[in-house]
Amino acid sequence: MAFDAEQVRAEFPILQRQVHGKPLVYLDSAASAQKPRAVIEAMTRAMEHSYANVHRGLHTLANETTDAYEAARRKAAAFIGAAEGEIVFTKGGTEAVNLVASGLAARLQPGDEIVLSEMEHHANIVPWHFLRDRCGAVLKWVPVLDDGSLDLAAYQGLLGPRTRVVALSHMSNVLGTINPAKDLARMAHEAGALVLFDGCQAIVHKPVDVKDIDADFYVFSGHKLYGPTGIGVLYGKAELLAQLPPYQGGGEMIGTVTLDEITYADPPHRFEAGTPPILEAIGLGAAIDWLSAQDRIAIAEHEHRLYQRVRERLAGANWLKVIGEAPGKGAVLSFTMEGAHAHDVAQILDRYGVAVRAGTHCAEPLMRRFGVTSSARASFALYNTEAEADAFVDALTKTQAFFA
Ligand code: PMP
Repeated sequence: MAFDAEQVRAEFPILQRQVHGKPLVYLDSAASAQKPRAVIEAMTRAMEHSYANVHRGLHTLANETTDAYEAARRKAAAFIGAAEGEIVFTKGGTEAVNLVASGLAARLQPGDEIVLSEMEHHANIVPWHFLRDRCGAVLKWVPVLDDGSLDLAAYQGLLGPRTRVVALSHMSNVLGTINPAKDLARMAHEAGALVLFDGCQAIVHKPVDVKDIDADFYVFSGHKLYGPTGIGVLYGKAELLAQLPPYQGGGEMIGTVTLDEITYADPPHRFEAGTPPILEAIGLGAAIDWLSAQDRIAIAEHEHRLYQRVRERLAGANWLKVIGEAPGKGAVLSFTMEGAHAHDVAQILDRYGVAVRAGTHCAEPLMRRFGVTSSARASFALYNTEAEADAFVDALTKTQAFFA
């Protein structure tokens, strides 16, 4: 199946708009992706036609909404090769990591080790700092090599008898590096550690099978996957979720409640206290249906072509420093421009209708590793076109001329 970006693009209403009188060139999908009409309509349809609270009603709308919510769980499970009961809905990727980190507190002793990498997003750093401070655990950091790949030899060396948890990104939101999750998991397991992958970026750009990887936990968010904000997914192996204590207390996560005692519901409901993000789950289910109907290999090739086109056209630009060139990387271009702050670059690009992100990308240790305080980032998605790649290069060249 050939991939036709123009045809797919027409399904995203927002991409028709203009910014400062120029056609929008949206290159900020790694921060949050735009939504196809199928997602917008699924959420609107639910609100207009079939909406009530889930799980506790006996009336038709409550039952229909519960069915739709649980169907979304089945879709998320099938999407990553998991069982239905292994999918916990959270409010985002960040909450999913926090849920696991806080739940593991009872398993950790002072001196136990948690292995992270220098390329992690703060969402996969700060919750582990909390856990370290609670348990007296020690954080160990896998270094990043100059090309933006993980130092696998150093990783192997960090694993040892005290390693309890390994938490690594499957794909870096800054470098675009795609880490060899299956190998990383095997090595973690050989050391007797649990392994969590932050899949917030990877899941968007490649098919993921959590059983094949043998991940213990896998985390992703809806809003980067062409779905809505306010919804994330935590996959956990059934036996591990069964051992994990609840994260928050409230309705729907209990077995029984008396004045003296509480018993808890089984996973996944044990981790979904209160009214869950119902419409957001329905929207995520629609996004997964929509994306699953596309040729995902062709999409990855398309995104790679766009990245290559930009790289080739900018090959002679000695004013540009690209951060992260690992083999097989995803279509994320992080860069600094000589003589201009990344924020200023992003602001000038915006005048040309080009949306990129600038700052630390919630990855301050990585910025420090590469000796910069910030970078600009252009991230490519399935709806970007070659004309947009060219528009970006042209706007960037004019931006450089402005600062030169
Ligand atoms: N990890 C990575 C690699 C990310 O890119 C992001 C989003 N910027 C997150 C975690 C946090 O996800 P969320 O926005 O769903 O909380």
